[in-house]
Amino acid sequence: MSRYSFARLAIHALTKHKHWGEAIRRAAPKAGYDVLIIGGGGHGLATAYYLAKKHGIHNVAVLEKGWLGGGNTSRNTQVSRSNYFWPESAAFFEHSLKLYETMSRDLNFNVMLSQRGILTLAHSHHEIETLRRWANAIQVNGIDSELMTPADISRLVPLLRMDGRYPVCGGFIQRRGGTTRHDAVAWAYARAASALDVDLVQQCEVTGLRITGGRIHGVETSRGPIAAHRVMLAVAGHTSVLGRLAGLQLPINSMALQAMVSEPIKPCLDTVVLSPVVHMYVSQSDRGEIVLGGGADPYTSYAQRGGVPVLQDTVSALTEMFPAFSRLRIMRQWAGIVDITPDTTPIMGKTPIDGLYISGGWGTGGYKAIPAGGDTMAYTVTHDDPHPLIKRFGLDRFATGALIDEGAASGVAH
Ligand SMILES: Cc1cc2nc3c(=O)[nH]c(=O)nc-3n(C[C@H](O)[C@H](O)[C@H](O)COP(=O)(O)OP(=O)(O)OC[C@H]3O[C@@H](n4cnc5c(N)ncnc54)[C@H](O)[C@@H]3O)c2cc1C
Repeated sequence: MSRYSFARLAIHALTKHKHWGEAIRRAAPKAGYDVLIIGGGGHGLATAYYLAKKHGIHNVAVLEKGWLGGGNTSRNTQVSRSNYFWPESAAFFEHSLKLYETMSRDLNFNVMLSQRGILTLAHSHHEIETLRRWANAIQVNGIDSELMTPADISRLVPLLRMDGRYPVCGGFIQRRGGTTRHDAVAWAYARAASALDVDLVQQCEVTGLRITGGRIHGVETSRGPIAAHRVMLAVAGHTSVLGRLAGLQLPINSMALQAMVSEPIKPCLDTVVLSPVVHMYVSQSDRGEIVLGGGADPYTSYAQRGGVPVLQDTVSALTEMFPAFSRLRIMRQWAGIVDITPDTTPIMGKTPIDGLYISGGWGTGGYKAIPAGGDTMAYTVTHDDPHPLIKRFGLDRFATGALIDEGAASGVAH
């Protein structure tokens, strides 16, 4: 793999950038591997990279039915933060944010980290009290979090309507929160894993799991069978589909989550703003587009009300809070299927089948978890024992009742 640097860019500029080598090696599937990872999104690619980099396991393949990073990893709104309530979640997401902070250097790929801060708004005095409790808990967890007065907020986000139907009574900010470029994160891990001899096999759908005597022996794919005694599921919105192939009934509810972007405009919003009550969050991309997201789509209840008004609700929420955006044109809209667990905490670790591991239930917030998810799952697969940071995220919590309810920290989208 050639190292990217200013000098190399300058040299290639002399030949009009016609001689760059392939960044990612194209691989055909072999008959067997030490580890198979199903799903070439951020979590699958990061796990493959850390398996090779930190644990010396290079005979690994990532099997992707489409193209690398083409699932939710390239559909999300790119927000990263670690302001979670419970200590277990805070420790895990803080580890992830720290890995994001050094990722461009570690992987020699610019992921365009922008720590512009993420501001959560409160629209009533009661809500302020809840945010105060939340912000205090985050500080006790050792993570940056600051309460803000309406005057502070108005200075930070001058375009925000402070005294409309939803008056802004205050809020709290994590200044280290922000965004990264999502496809760059997938490409960075893919390129680094490929350079460490991991096979990244695209257009290869897993159609069956070979399980006998309670142990996994490999998978069936659209490109033939592949043997492996360690297999990990990292398939986001398809976790229950793959789980069913293994005979597992997972506590997951799958639904669509939508987002949209406006036409590009000059820089005017340099913070991510989230309003759980009005049900929207917004940021401005480095191309100038206003990036807008809202809640997940519980289609059945909306269908009963005669339509799918999520987009309309989200746009109304935006224009209520930012009247200046009301004349923008929406350029693109899309959706991804997200797997939501009853406590909105992911499911990570071992399964009742020997050698089968799971990284799923990421719901609406698994992008920020990609580095820590990859790091901790690589450890888990290597040692056949959950990494200390994810011990509480196992499937067994749904039997013991030791849930980690992060519904509030999921922001608007749960
Ligand atoms: C609109 C939207 C906005 C979001 N915004 C945010 C945000 O701002 N911040 C945040 O933290 N999170 C956000 N998320 C959630 C986040 O995108 C996901 O949690 C995260 O990308 C999950 O990563 P993954 O690698 O597990 O899944 P994916 O990136 O979806 O990768 C899974 C891959 O598995 C492949 N696959 C599925 N079945 C098979 C099979 N049978 N065989 C082979 N391959 C298979 C799929 O093709 C896919 O490429 C958002 C999600 C959406 C949809």
